[in-house]
Amino acid sequence: MLPPESIIAVVGGINMDMIFTVDRVLGAGESKNARSFARCPGGKGANTAVAAYRASQIALKNGISSGIKVFINGAVGDDEFGLQLKQQLEESGVITSTVQVLKGETSGLCCVLAEGDESRNVAYQGANFKWKPPVLGSVTCFGGNKKPDLLVLHLGIPADVIEGVLTTAALLATDTLLNPSPATPLNKSTYGNVTHLILNESEARILATESVEPKTSGGNIDWLELSLHFIRLGAQNVVITLGAKGAVYATHEHEIGHVSAEKVTVVDATGAGDAFVGTYAVEYVRSKGRQWNIRDAVERASKAAAKAVQHVGAQ
Ligand code: ATP
Repeated sequence: MLPPESIIAVVGGINMDMIFTVDRVLGAGESKNARSFARCPGGKGANTAVAAYRASQIALKNGISSGIKVFINGAVGDDEFGLQLKQQLEESGVITSTVQVLKGETSGLCCVLAEGDESRNVAYQGANFKWKPPVLGSVTCFGGNKKPDLLVLHLGIPADVIEGVLTTAALLATDTLLNPSPATPLNKSTYGNVTHLILNESEARILATESVEPKTSGGNIDWLELSLHFIRLGAQNVVITLGAKGAVYATHEHEIGHVSAEKVTVVDATGAGDAFVGTYAVEYVRSKGRQWNIRDAVERASKAAAKAVQHVGAQ
């Protein structure tokens, strides 16, 4: 029997992305026209919420889920972008009643310089850094009036706020998924409040070197060993995504492995990680009441991420 309808609540940044596609990234003092321009909704929180909703719809259509409601918690400004961002999230199926519209604030903006399958981003945090948890001491409101089955968090919101939410979630036995992007130093004790930690190569390197020098063999970082480092810090499940090289995973129950990426033609690599996290979140919620299989979740997430890199834009 399928578990009843579940709730995924995402806490994270909501941005408008300005994507300039360039032949090469310019040096100081140079100016040149972009090959193309696109304005797309983005922000780690928003992208993951949309990816999770899409993955939930596929699961519903395939008869392997009774449905998942996806809430987004974050903030936008009361400017033109804020209204558009909220509307686009709603049109994508994400519930935005938990989004705060902050008077007099600018919505988060991100300038993306896309060059082949590489991109360079400059973000202005705006309203994202003014967001406050709705009721301190309770995670219930993150998913409307019900406790979420999984709380997904990103660091597009100040790290100390996210650490506070994680502590509260742990006290209330709410499962959490932390995607520490953009990588920001965290207290070591935070990892003990994380059910799932999903991070990419550079995030893993930055967060690990706060406490340990990553082990290398022949000049290459041992990613499996590094994922076990985060398990030792207290995370229950760890996935390090490695772009076209796939992903490694480890659990506190001593499961480890590697999943290869699909072979695809990359159009825009932005948003691969968000599609990965959103799909993994749905797989975890779907697994409740039966055996959790991290490998299955990583495989499905990799397939969704491979689809995402074949399209322009993070959502
Ligand atoms: P982004 O910040 O652009 O959202 P990320 O750096 O967080 O991405 P990556 O590690 O680049 O995340 O990619 C996440 C997953 O997406 C990988 O583990 C892989 O499954 C898939 N992926 C990424 N790049 C490719 C690629 N070139 N071909 C196939 N799959 C890819």
